[in-house]
Order: sequence, then structure tokens, then C-alpha cells
Amino acid sequence: MSLIELTKVSRFYKVGKNEKKYVLRHISLSFPSQGLVCILGKSGSGKSTLLNLIGKIDKPSEGKIFYDGENIAKYKEKRMITFRSQIVSYIFQHYHLLENQTAIYNVMLPALISGDGYKEARKKAEDLLNSFSINKELFDKRCADLSGGEKERIAILRAFINKPKVILADEPTGALDKENALLTMKALKKISETSLVIMVTHNATLANQYADRIIQMSDGKIIKDERINNMFDKVDNRLIKTKANHNWLNRIVVSNFTKRFKRNIFSISALVVGLVSSMLIFGFSNGKTASIVRSMENQFDYGTASISKENRLVSADSPIALIQTMRPSYEEINEIKGTCSDFHVCYSYDALLSPYPSVAINDKEIDNFAYTPIYSFEDNSTNRNLLIKGKIPTFDTLNQVVINKQAYQALNKKLKYDCLNSYLRIKEQQSYSFPTGDEDNPYVADYFVYDRLVQIVGVVRENNFLNSPKIFYSYLAFDNLVNKTVLNNLSSYKDLTTWKDVVLDSNDNEQLSSYSCRLFLKDFENLSSLRNIKDILDEKYSVTCNGLTVEETLVSLVNAASIGMEVFLAIALVGIVLILGIISFASYNEDIKDSAILLCYGARRDDIALIYTFESLIIGLISVVVSFVLGLILTKPVNLLIERFTSLINIIDIPFMTFHNHRLLFPLLIIGATMFVCFIATYLPIGFSKKISLKEELKEND
Ligand code: ADP
Ligand code: MG
Repeated sequence: MSLIELTKVSRFYKVGKNEKKYVLRHISLSFPSQGLVCILGKSGSGKSTLLNLIGKIDKPSEGKIFYDGENIAKYKEKRMITFRSQIVSYIFQHYHLLENQTAIYNVMLPALISGDGYKEARKKAEDLLNSFSINKELFDKRCADLSGGEKERIAILRAFINKPKVILADEPTGALDKENALLTMKALKKISETSLVIMVTHNATLANQYADRIIQMSDGKIIKDERINNMFDKVDNRLIKTKANHNWLNRIVVSNFTKRFKRNIFSISALVVGLVSSMLIFGFSNGKTASIVRSMENQFDYGTASISKENRLVSADSPIALIQTMRPSYEEINEIKGTCSDFHVCYSYDALLSPYPSVAINDKEIDNFAYTPIYSFEDNSTNRNLLIKGKIPTFDTLNQVVINKQAYQALNKKLKYDCLNSYLRIKEQQSYSFPTGDEDNPYVADYFVYDRLVQIVGVVRENNFLNSPKIFYSYLAFDNLVNKTVLNNLSSYKDLTTWKDVVLDSNDNEQLSSYSCRLFLKDFENLSSLRNIKDILDEKYSVTCNGLTVEETLVSLVNAASIGMEVFLAIALVGIVLILGIISFASYNEDIKDSAILLCYGARRDDIALIYTFESLIIGLISVVVSFVLGLILTKPVNLLIERFTSLINIIDIPFMTFHNHRLLFPLLIIGATMFVCFIATYLPIGFSKKISLKEELKEND
């Protein structure tokens, strides 16, 4: 039985609709396992096509080709890999070398692909190159820099290295001078003592001198088959390696990466932009709540709230319900004192002194300055750390006030000098009439006049989000004042009556009650009590807390911003994945010929996809590292920028070190996600791309 057998093999191309152009017509041939067969014929007679069919680079249109009794068209992938890596070897007419790699690496490649280690393969290649007297200087030169003759010899030695059973040589001596052509023929002759060599040549002299058999072709047919020497089939015990090796990929990955350095820098930049924005946006989502809370603590009257009772007045024959807001009753206030033990629960004097009295400095009126009570200057109800200038009064007095930075700046602008220690004039007058019980004079009016010069002794820093200029006075001092101030007119009808008495005695739905009572957090650090206040209190009460309102507004605004950013980020990420996929697919397409060469020497399609996937993974890894560095560097300036506009401090908090209580979880997640994206973006398009035949792929860019 012969080693290779062709039965009625034809190869045609479709021309037009139904016409076929036969390049090979009904070829039946058989080859034994040893000997040198030369194929002669004019250009275009179908010689290369015949070699391609035998080597499974092209498929016959009709007929079958058997290797060792097995139809090669029926090979499964694994069998085909061994067939290509260790059984047949090509010497192509156009060399088909990896131009970007060194000469010796090209020679080593079939050995590496079929499982040799790097050192082993290099040793084999060096021996082979030396035996062909190839100048050592050429070994590590890039193939692109070699001459035609040098390339030809490298291509020949590459075919020899695995000592294949069949060598298919397409005009191997074409580019060689006489001396080297002879050397090559001698080598092929030597190999043909143990292997089958099928060689296409134009050189009839060389063929006649060396060939064991000469086949002449014309127009796709065999016109002469001349046996010169006897050729024998010998039992061949050469071992076939089964172990696959992937180490050869690394070198190609690295050289591809450097070859496309500029393009890869572009991919890296795209990824870095995406990753850094992801990290910043993630850091924003991660840090926003803590930052808002921190920022809200920067409010001198943060622990101040007021409570009203809501009475729903439903009339039987009207769909409209009236809601009456009123002060909790005396008993209810006592009850609130019990449940809200972290707070001072007090009467509100807003009816005597509104939050916006007239404020003037040097007789100049100032608009929109709030006159705001805090519980006391003496205790822990306010955060003294917020003081940035001057001092906090050492005892509770109405003659000294603290203002916030917003007020300080507004005053300085108006005065054109530092307003600390200057005096403000606070003025307000309220009049109320009271029943006297006297029939002649049933009502009497009294005035509560507040008119005093107060000295600015300190300035506190407050977040400037939704914050207006404020002047803080002591509630306790004011309480003391109203407790001592007597109503002159009413006192002549009733026992000595103070303004505090009339506020306390007023009906809970009267203006004097202010329709509410006041809460002051005893310890400004006890923020959780403030946040929970609505849950603790009965439903009939409504709580108004400036600090909480601002905080809630801010949280929902920032959440909306963060959702917007996340949507934007998701879209951007899809774009980046597409860019990556397109770039790596372009690289793959650009190298399609190199890939085909690798496939001819036994590489698997998967290996090829891996080459480009690894390239993407390198891009991913570099991008992640660069992004971490940039993320670390950028967080601070971006935070400062955000702080300038919103006064939110350190809103971006990228959890580099610990995330969900796991050390380094965040960087690992980012690395994992990036690698996954790079893998998917590269591997999928290449894996799903349409496979054209090896023959077509080899022709690419020729
Ligand atoms: P040789 O190697 O003997 O010079 P080839 O085997 O390369 O010849 O080509 C044989 C013939 O097949 C040529 O006439 C060539 O034009 C034709 N041929 C090769 N590939 C194609 C193709 N894809 N479509 C049509 N004709 C083709
Ligand atoms: Mg040819």
C-alpha cells in the first residue's frame, strides 16, 4: 500500500453561472513513503494546486486523497493538527515566512508548535542552519531584512526541522543561485532517503539528475509519469508527539504588540479613559452619602428642629379636609420630652422674634440675614470645631453673636473691612392684644420690642449648599429675656405677667404659640437621634429640621446625578468594548497570512484567537495599572473641584484598599472585569469570524 493515494482528483473553479474551469482533471496518483518526486510543467498547468491538495491547504472538487489509507477530507481537528505539524511540511513558492520574526525563530516554529521547549527547538534549528552553512549573523535577523535567496533557505530549513514524513516543495530552488540550488537539491535528496519529497520545479536538468520519478503536467493533466529509480515503501516507526505546547504564542504576542505599538497606545488610552471614569464614578457612588453626612455636620444649627401637631378637620359633606397646624399641648410636650430624651424640648418664641428681623450695620439695612437660635453657647449642643475666627461667647448672652462664613463674607464685602467685633443692630416689634376681663376695657394691647446692638464675636464655617447668611443667638439667653420682660399694659389688669407667661398660656392654635415647639439636640454628635426623630415621634407630629431637609435634598440630587453618570458610563463602556473589539479584529485581519502560516505548521485556530486575546489582555493589564495610578492622582483634584462648587468634601472615595471589608477586593474586581471585557471583545469576534480557506488566507497581501 502506498503512503499517499489520489483517486480521480479534480479541482475546478466556477466561472460565471454554470461554467466550470478545470485546473486539475481526474488525477490518479500514488506515492510511496520514500523518494524524490519532481513535478515539471509549464506555468499554470496546475502543479501548485496539486501540492496544495495533497497538503490539505486546498480541497479537491472531486475525488479523494488518502494518507496511509485514510481519507484526509475526513480528518477531525486533532488528527489534522498532527498531519500539519508532523506529517507534511511545506516549502512555499513565496516563502511565507513570519516577516516580523527572526530567521531562527521561523525555523524553530514547527518544532515549538509540535511541543518542543524553546531551548530544544533552538538547538535543533542552530544545528540545521549550521549544516547548511548559514551565516550566524543571519540567525537573529528579522526575515523582512533578508534577501530572497536567504528567505528561500530559511523556508526550506523550516520544513526540515520536524523531520516530516512528506515534504511538499513548490519551486524551492527558484530564487537560489546555482551553488545553493545544488545544496538544496542534495539536502532534499538526503531527506528523501527517509521521507517522501514531492517537488515542483522548472529545472529539468536538476530533476533529471536527482529525481527518482518525474511527473510532467500540462493543462491540469498528467502527460508523463517516468520512474527513474525504484522507490520503496518502508515501515516508518518515527514517533509522533502528542503533547501540545503553547509557549510559542508568547513571542508572537509580544512582537505583535510592539509591531502595533501606536495602535495599542490608542486602545490603552480609550480603556484608561473608560476605567478612570468608571473608578471616579464608582468612587462617587461609594463616597457620596458619607460625604453629604460629613458636610451636613458643617452646620452650626444642625441639631435644631421644630415640631407641630397636625389636626385634620374633616367636614361630613365636603370632600376637602383642612389641616390645622398647631403647637403640641402642654401634656404632649411633656410626653415628647420623655420619648426624645436626647433633645431639649422647648417653647418656640418665633411669634415674638421672627427668623428674619430687621438687621443693620452702621445704620445700613442688610437683607436676608437669618437670626437663628441655637440652644446655648455654653454646652455641647453645637459643634465648636466649626469656629474659624474669633470665639464662641463664654456664657449665654444676647449681646454677643456668632455668624456663619456666608454672613461674614457678605458683611466684609459691604463694609470693606473685617467685620469681626463690629456691632449689628437687630430690631423687631410685635404687638398682641389680650382680653382683660374688664367690661369697660375688654382688650389691651402690648408691644414686644426687640432692639439691641449685638457684637459679632465669632465666625463659624458652614457648608455653602442651600445655606444663607446666618446670625446665631443663644435660645437660653432669649428665654431668660422673655421670662423677665413684663407686659406693662396687661400687668395692670392681671398679676405680674411676663412675655414667657403669655406664650406658655396661649392657645396651641394661636399665633403666640408659633404653632410649634422647638427641639435642640443636647449633643451635636448624636446625629443618629436627629435622623431617627421622625420614626420615634407619633404620626400626628410633623418635624421640620433645616439640617435634615438640606441633607435629604442633597442626597436625592446627588443620587440623581449618580444615576445619570452611571447610565452615561454604561454607554461609554459599551463604546469602549466595541472600539477594543474592532481594533483587535482589525489586527487579526491584518495578520491573516501570518496566522495561515502558523496553521500550516500545525497551530490550532484556537491558538490564533489566543494570540489576539493575549494581546488584548496585555492592553487591558497596562490600562488597569495606568488607570489605578491616574485614579489615585486624580481623586484629590477632582474632589477639590467638586468641593469648590458644592462644598461636599471628599465625595469621591475609591475603595482601593478595602471594599466590603475585603482587602484589595476593589482592584481585583476591576482587573477581573477588564480582563473579562478584553477577552470577550477579542475572542468572540475572532471565534465567530467567517473562515476562508487556508489557500485564500495565504494569498492575502501577497
Ligand atoms: P502552476 O503552479 O502550475 O503555475 P497553479 O496550480 O498555481 O499553476 O494554477 C493553475 C491554474 O489555476 C492557473 O491557470 C490559475 O490561473 C488557476 N487558478 C488558481 N486559483 C484560481 C482561482 N481562485 N480561481 C480561478 N482560477 C484559479
Ligand atoms: Mg505554481
